[in-house]
Amino acid sequence: MATIALHPALDNGITPGTAGFAGGTLTCHCTKDPVSVRIDSNVAHNHACGCSKCWKPKGAAVAVVGVVPRDKVTITANGDKLKVIDATAAIQRHACSVCGVHLIGRIENTAHPFYGLDFVHVELSKEKGWAAPEFAAFVSSAIEAGGLRPDQMDAARARFKELKMEPYDCLSPVLMDAIATHVAKAKGVLKA
Ligand SMILES: [Zn+2]
Ligand SMILES: [Zn+2]
Repeated sequence: MATIALHPALDNGITPGTAGFAGGTLTCHCTKDPVSVRIDSNVAHNHACGCSKCWKPKGAAVAVVGVVPRDKVTITANGDKLKVIDATAAIQRHACSVCGVHLIGRIENTAHPFYGLDFVHVELSKEKGWAAPEFAAFVSSAIEAGGLRPDQMDAARARFKELKMEPYDCLSPVLMDAIATHVAKAKGVLKA
């Protein structure tokens, strides 16, 4: 059976990250006046995502996305081309209005568990050394998002496992626990 294609950053095997890697520049796909965003940090919780909201390159089954502190993110060129796709979404995707690439997913709700983190796609950077993708999130959602057919799911999950990226149908346990902890503290269920 041929190996199922998931994403260009995964299909030839995963490139390990470099210790101490300090960041790089993300650039959209426009050949003229591309949007550039400098990230002064490595990426954390880098992962594949099957959801319908994350940007993925043409033909990819899933997205690859991670987080960086928002104070390490600087728009360095052609930021006037960025538009928020859905201002009511918890994560506001700032996309290039010409090529459609998402440069930053930003949370403006200060009560959100992930407030202070921006979601980014490090495949938009030429620099090598970004932390490698660690797991696969919202894998079943890839059916809804049109990335995978139901009959491809066994092969997709098997391939993620082969890549040492545990597949989940929500976020990873570490991130689900972080969300639940945040909510429990907000409700007073959990005392700090
Ligand atoms: Zn663009
Ligand atoms: Zn997603």
